Formats: sequence, structure tokens, C-alpha cells
Amino acid sequence: MTDQLQVRPAQKDAKEALASVPSGFLADSWRAPAPGGVLTVEDPATGEAIATVADCTEEDALAALGAAATAGPAWALTSPRERADTLHRLVASMHAHRERLAWLLTLEVGKTLAEARGEVDYAADYVRWYAEEAVRPHGRSTVAPDGRSHILTVAEPVGPCLLITPWNVPLAMAARKVAPALAAGCSAILKPAELTPLSSLVFAELALAAGVPAGVLTVVTTSAPAGVCARLIADERLRKVSFTGSTPVGRILLQQAGQRVLRVSMELGGNAPFLVFDDADLELAVHEAMIAKMRMGGQSCVAANRFLVQDGIADRFTAALAERMTAIRVGPGWEDGVDLGPLVDARAVAKAARLVEDARERGATVVARAPVPDGPGWYFPPTVLDHVPADAAICSEEVFGPVAAISRFSTEDEALARANDTEHGLAAYVLTSDFDRARRVAGRLQSGMVGINRGLVSNVAAPFGGIKQSGLGREGGPEGLHEYQQFKYLSMPGFHAPAGGA
Ligand code: NAP
Repeated sequence: MTDQLQVRPAQKDAKEALASVPSGFLADSWRAPAPGGVLTVEDPATGEAIATVADCTEEDALAALGAAATAGPAWALTSPRERADTLHRLVASMHAHRERLAWLLTLEVGKTLAEARGEVDYAADYVRWYAEEAVRPHGRSTVAPDGRSHILTVAEPVGPCLLITPWNVPLAMAARKVAPALAAGCSAILKPAELTPLSSLVFAELALAAGVPAGVLTVVTTSAPAGVCARLIADERLRKVSFTGSTPVGRILLQQAGQRVLRVSMELGGNAPFLVFDDADLELAVHEAMIAKMRMGGQSCVAANRFLVQDGIADRFTAALAERMTAIRVGPGWEDGVDLGPLVDARAVAKAARLVEDARERGATVVARAPVPDGPGWYFPPTVLDHVPADAAICSEEVFGPVAAISRFSTEDEALARANDTEHGLAAYVLTSDFDRARRVAGRLQSGMVGINRGLVSNVAAPFGGIKQSGLGREGGPEGLHEYQQFKYLSMPGFHAPAGGA
């Protein structure tokens, strides 16, 4: 009997997916950087080491930047159609490698296979969107108000970009940055999170095979992100940094980028309020609440962090949400019938536990707590808290876990005051059957995105991003491409054609 026949099918898929991961992708070839060490990647469902990848040094990162600077100009001169065709080939390849990518996401992040497949599709959709956007006309032509000059604006790629991504949706975040950068004609260095480098490495490998030239896209995996990124940002060859991650790290990067007046995009933390008014459709509100809370097990920047529920519907909403949360089956992401995988690591579990305990000590009640498997793995029980006071830490910190914190309100003004009482402004949700109220409340919510009777705001065609300390710039939609373009204005003599064109 061969080795492969002795393992269960799930293990076989995992082994095959892991065996296919390149150990490192540097300046011009797939190779582990010499003589650097290796990073060990662990499976959050078991705590076991599952793969090693290159642990890049600052010198490796500078080599990647050198390659990006060298290869960038030729890529910038390719036709929009050629870049679009390359991205379309990448989309096809992502679809062809859907299972392999999904397995890697399940193994490195812990999410269920169903959710991981959804992330692969979502990521491929971003690549497709920017393949389509690449050939749209960019720039405009107009005549100055006094008629004396003609104004032409031309979109140019900003140049080599550093793209830093978080661990919670590693493939989708890589695609949301790499695709517009490449479509605009930029070269890019992708810096994935230390916990989740595997899907990014395979994504880059597929991009290379789809025709992205060597050096135009590199991946720097490292256990020393602070030093590596600071070194790249200080280098004159880098023209832009795009970051998705926490607000504290975003502030550090903004300071560093400020020294070089570097172009930045910042997709930072959130603290999304989910407002349920008395007139909301209860069934819809609970359904959308589960999506807003439990997509990615609550480990999402747009996850509902605070449920603000009006007094007249609060008891029914809380009971229905508790029923749904306790019915969730928790286990390893690859197991059939599992709805929720583990959190990403021990720190994530400790943070969720601390926030639940703090809320309880301040008077909140635990109304639901689903069972979790015994044994290894970073599992946290889906939990519902009711009567959470405004001073509980969970109201100001992202829980990033399967905890629904419910507070009650009586008036619209009170709900809005509480919803806006945060330094963040990424996403917010309004559940109401009153269209006028929906528009009024959405208008007064201080956030970059508002879901109206919907718990899902992410869409490739929409400008995703926040206000206040949730970030700068937008990803997705046509806006996402502009983040990688600079507009040059050409001033020319005006055309003084006589009336009638004679
Ligand atoms: P994080 O700790 O800020 O890390 C994000 C990325 O930055 C990782 O690649 C990390 O590398 C790297 N990094 C850490 N310190 C750095 C430094 N000093 N200089 C340069 N890079 C550094 O965030 P996370 O815990 O991975 O992700 C969760 C956060 O991301 C949450 O706050 C969430 O809301 C936010 N997020 C926002 C969006 C959005 O679109 N607004 C989307 C997803 C997530 P290492 O992992 O190796 O430390």
C-alpha cells in the first residue's frame, strides 16, 4: 500500500496542496533566499506545523525592489489590452486551481472549505474586474473655461508598489491590491502576513505562469515585517505603499511614508455598528446579522462589532440570534458539516475571551454559548452577549471573533450617537422597513460603507474603504485603479474653430 492510500481523503488533499507551495518567490525566480532562515506556518485547527517558507531579510526585500524597478518600465509600456489579457489568464488559472487555493486558505487561516472556496472566487472576481478596467479609457480631454487652452489628462502608473496584506482574507486582499496595480502598469512587491503566506505564494506563481513578467510581481515573506517594510519605504525606488491591517500599524506606516511624501492607501480596522430598528423585518434582520457577524467567523474588518437594537424588538432579536449562534457547529475547517473553524491563533482566542469577560464584569449577560471541540486548535465558542454597557471594551475594540455584543436603545438619535462614538468609520448596517429612516440614518452614519437591510457590503465593483481612523483611499470599483495611477496634465493651445466648423 502506498503512502497516499493510507491517508484519509481530506489529508491527501491537504498534503497535495501543501506540497505544491513554492518556498519563496524573490526577485527573478522561485527560490528560498540564501542564507536566510525559514518561516513555519501552523494549522490553527491543530496547532501543528504544516509548511515552511522563506524568511526574507531586508536585503532580500531590496533585491525584490530592484527587480520591480528594473522590470516596471517595460510593464508600464505594455498595452492596456496586453495587461488585461494577462489578468484574464490569471482569472482562468485561479478557477482551475480553486481547490488547491481553497485548501491552502483552510489550512493557513482555519476557515471552512466552503468559505475558502468563496474567497478564491471573490479574489478571482477582483482580478477579472481589473482585467476589465485595464482597457477603460483613463484621463480626459477638455477646454479651459476661457477657451485659450486645451487640457488633456493622462493616467500613468505610479511605479513600484509595496502591498502589505493581513492574515484574515489573505488571497482576496492580495488580489484586491495586485490586480489594480498590474492593470495600471505598476510593478509590485506583495508582503503577506507571517501567519498566512501560502495562498499568496501560489497566487504569485499563477500570475507568473499567466504571463506577468519576472520581477513585476514578487512576494516577500518575512518574520521581520517592521524592518523589511521600513527599509523598502525609505528607498527612493518605491513609489507607493498600500496597506490592509490594523490602525496602529497603519499609523506607523503613514509616518514612514510621510518622510518621503509617498502615495498611500490605508485599509484599516473597523468597529461596525449594526442597527436594528423596531420596524425591521425580524427574520431578515437575524439572517443579515448572521452574515455580518459570522462571515469569516467574525474575523473581518467589516464584521458587525456592536449590535444596537431598539427596545421594542430587542428581546425577539436577541432570542432568535442566540438560537442561530448556538446551532453553529464548530470544528476543523476541512470537516464536512462544520460551519465555523478555529480562530487564527492563541492570541485571537485570548483577546475574544478577555473582551467577553470584561463585558460580563461590567454587567452584560451571556445568553448563548455554542460548544467547541475538545483538544488542540484555537476554537472559540460562538457567543451572544446582551445588555452590553457602552463602557465595555468590546464596544471600542474589534473583537475579531464569533461574539455578538448586543446593546439596546430607545431613540434614533441615541442609536446614531452610540454608532458614531468610535474612532473608526469603516462599515455600518441599518435594518429597518422605513425607507426614509434608512436614507436618513445612512446619511448620518460616520462610515465609508453602509449596508441597508444587508449584512454584506463587499463587492468588486464598489469602492471599499473607510473614513476617520479606518483608512485612506478605496479598493474595488474604478476608484481602486486610480489608487495606482497618477494623472499628468498636458496644457496645449486652445482650438478656436469658427462657429459651424467651417
Ligand atoms: P496587522 O497586525 O496590522 O498586520 C497587517 C500586516 O502588516 C501583516 O502583513 C503584518 O505582518 C504587517 N505588519 C505588522 N507590523 C508591521 C510594521 N511595523 N510595519 C509593516 N508591516 C507590519 O493586522 P492583522 O492582525 O494581520 O489584521 C487584522 C486587522 O486588519 C484588523 O484590524 C482588521 O480590521 C484589518 N483589516 C482591514 C481591512 C480593510 O479593508 N479595512 C481588511 C482586512 C483586515 P505580520 O503578520 O507578519 O506581523
